Amino acid sequence: MLVVPWPDAPLFPGIDIDTSIALLAHFDIDALVRVRFWNHLGDQYTSATLTRRIAFMLSPAFSDYEAFVHELQLTSSVVGGQAALHVFHPSEPAPRVIAIYTPHRTFFHVLGYLVHQEDFELRITACEASPIADEPPPLEVTLTKGRYSFLLVPGAKESPTPLHPLVSMWNSALCAYFGPNSFCDAYTGLNEHSRGLIHPSRLALHGQLPADLGALIRTWTARGWALSNTPSAWVGATPCRGAVSIGCAAAVRFFGDAHCTSGVLLPLGETLPRSVGVDLLQEYSVVWWRGGRTCGGGCHYGETSITGGKRLCLRSVLITT
Ligand SMILES: [Zn+2]
Repeated sequence: MLVVPWPDAPLFPGIDIDTSIALLAHFDIDALVRVRFWNHLGDQYTSATLTRRIAFMLSPAFSDYEAFVHELQLTSSVVGGQAALHVFHPSEPAPRVIAIYTPHRTFFHVLGYLVHQEDFELRITACEASPIADEPPPLEVTLTKGRYSFLLVPGAKESPTPLHPLVSMWNSALCAYFGPNSFCDAYTGLNEHSRGLIHPSRLALHGQLPADLGALIRTWTARGWALSNTPSAWVGATPCRGAVSIGCAAAVRFFGDAHCTSGVLLPLGETLPRSVGVDLLQEYSVVWWRGGRTCGGGCHYGETSITGGKRLCLRSVLITT
């Protein structure tokens, strides 16, 4: 998230640097990662584009942006949800309230930092409608400073990562994050076609569509999104591949798997200036399967519905191919 300078050479032959920068401003995360693998220059342009998008959104809220990035690094916290979707797919709007996800045990460290170092005003309210589907926090912690607002979301108890809440967002497009030097867009293949999967636990509430969810769906649909509770409902849907698919109820997913677009923010080989010993985001991932209505007869042994789940897992035992 620390700002990477623009290279001093044009990216595209015959096109000047300013025009290269203007073109990249429209690239989504999948296109930027492809540019990264062209060559060293492409890698630098990708890092500069992503880190500047993030800083443009976040840095005006902080008196010391570099120190804020270090606080996220110290606590293995990330920015996720709509803010990440905006960075990865710049045609999507930036959120009015930016969500920070922090491991459960460092929640108050981040809270104290924002209040005492950055002079944010703390507001704690009863949470009626959470962006998280099946684990609504009993209280919603919002921090405001002027026109800037942040939602601080704790991770699952006893988990060293902040990532559990992200897999239960009401809409799969929001299952995305960036940290001090890593990022992950878990449903890029759907997001680039403006398709989102509604989390089944939200649909099951009271046996009918909750009012707040209906309003969210209408807002997203007006922006051109197609939302569904199963990928088989979309026109032109390919046959279900079950556990290895991107969005089937039975798909076994994890942050960093082959369906994700993920990587580091700094140019390859560069590291953050201040080391914190261990990066818990690199040590642990979360494995999940959405659950809910299956794709039909050929999916998951003919079951019509399955129960979702999520588990903490060491990245070193996960296969990414
Ligand atoms: Zn299926």
